[in-house]
Amino acid sequence: MFFLLQLFINNEFVDSVSGKTFPTLNPANERKIADVAEADKADVDRAVSAARAAFEIGSEWRKLDASARGRLINKLASLIERDIEYIANLETLDNGKPYEDSVFDIGCAIDTFRYYAGWCDKIHGNTIPADGQLFSLTRKEPVGVVGQIIPWNYPILMLAWKWGPALATGCTLVLKPAEQTPLTALYVAALSKEAGFPAGVINVLTGYGPTAGAAIASHPDINKVAFTGSTEVGRLVLAAGAKSNLKRVSLELGGKSALVICSDADVDEAVEIAHGAVFNNHGQNCCAGSRTFVQEDLYDEFVKKAVAKATARKVGDPFTDGIQQGPQVDDELFNKVLSLIKSGKEEGAKLECGGDRWGKEGYFIQPTVFSNVSDNMRIAREEIFGPVQSIIKFKTLDEAIRRANDSTYGLAAGIVTKDVNMALIFAQSVHAGSVWVNCYDAVVPQAPFGGYKQSGFGRELGEDSLKEYLEVKTVTIKMPYKI
Ligand code: NAD
Repeated sequence: MFFLLQLFINNEFVDSVSGKTFPTLNPANERKIADVAEADKADVDRAVSAARAAFEIGSEWRKLDASARGRLINKLASLIERDIEYIANLETLDNGKPYEDSVFDIGCAIDTFRYYAGWCDKIHGNTIPADGQLFSLTRKEPVGVVGQIIPWNYPILMLAWKWGPALATGCTLVLKPAEQTPLTALYVAALSKEAGFPAGVINVLTGYGPTAGAAIASHPDINKVAFTGSTEVGRLVLAAGAKSNLKRVSLELGGKSALVICSDADVDEAVEIAHGAVFNNHGQNCCAGSRTFVQEDLYDEFVKKAVAKATARKVGDPFTDGIQQGPQVDDELFNKVLSLIKSGKEEGAKLECGGDRWGKEGYFIQPTVFSNVSDNMRIAREEIFGPVQSIIKFKTLDEAIRRANDSTYGLAAGIVTKDVNMALIFAQSVHAGSVWVNCYDAVVPQAPFGGYKQSGFGRELGEDSLKEYLEVKTVTIKMPYKI
């Protein structure tokens, strides 16, 4: 298989209209990997025209049987599986996550595609007992041309979350990967052609947010935009949708999620869960359990063990076996994380370990643990997106729930306890789209995922995600008489 570092429009790799390119860097050594075509508004127009033509009534894509759509998605999943080593190498090179993590993410992407392949011929409406001599039925129709804007923290997985439901429902799409990690999306675009998707169904535009991303958000002929990224940009996307053509918008945004450890928990298990919740993917996880609330009886022992675990974390070259943490994705995030660590020290939290860069080159940060964190500190309020654990003490579950809910975000939450009543009270009271009990980050293709409050709206994954890509049409027929 080959892919090119150009834009993928109408099943062809093409240069951008301006001819411009931009570099993508290896975050482990700050060196350039390649120059990639830079899309702007004119390229968005071209891609949207291709996607619109592919969606027209009578097009090859529209006439395809729903079951055949499912087979195409399954074929794409099989091609990704065939090339998993190559794609994982590309992902690790571009993003900096350990190679084994890339393999894991790609496995989840394959599962997501297969899950949605199964939905294609199972999307149907209802027959409705309308009053009078009327007979009503509903049809579920694809919303149309979809714009998709994704971040860099799980490049191929975010692509699968977006493409799976869009393709299953029969939409056509224009995806913009993050400028930090454009490579795997281009590779998978090439695979989509090999799988046999008709021209124009799938288009990939590499480029920057304020140019290509903004042109997608404000395009008058895009029917829906699905966005994953920061809350700040989510607001811009929503406003652009409103100002242009009132396109439908779904937003998956940031988080500051609370993980509550009750004193009846097995301390080693709790430390393990909390460690993974913060440090997986170098903390670059929208669900990161970045507020670790620990009940007072367990607090000191928990902190000691959490520090031992963080100190033992293996940081280094993401291609080396056994490495658990590579670099942050770019210099901007690297500097933001270090400045938040500095704020933690200045605001009086106790730095237990880490707190500085790791090594001399690349955007590596030492696994960092703070204790004695209070709710008003920046490290307890702002999304860090780095390997920084903030451990906060609480007395009662009611208090923990109140403090957990004291956030503008509401993406995820977790509790570790042996008491099923405590777990259920927490699960029902916490303002979050996902709640995990005695586990964390347990995201599966079958179950919906999304935020409350300023973590966004709309759901990805599961059956719920299909609704984001469907219109419901009611057809009402007059009957000659009532039977
Ligand atoms: P970001 O919002 O800067 O970028 C995300 C995407 O939006 C990129 O493709 C970027 O090019 C594009 N973009 C930037 N400006 C734009 C504009 N004006 N118009 C349209 N598109 C634009 O976010 P980031 O810093 O790259 O990613 C990290 C953030 O994403 C974190 O806040 C994190 O919590 C969030 N995130 C959320 C989820 C989720 O599922 N809720 C998943 C991953 C990341």
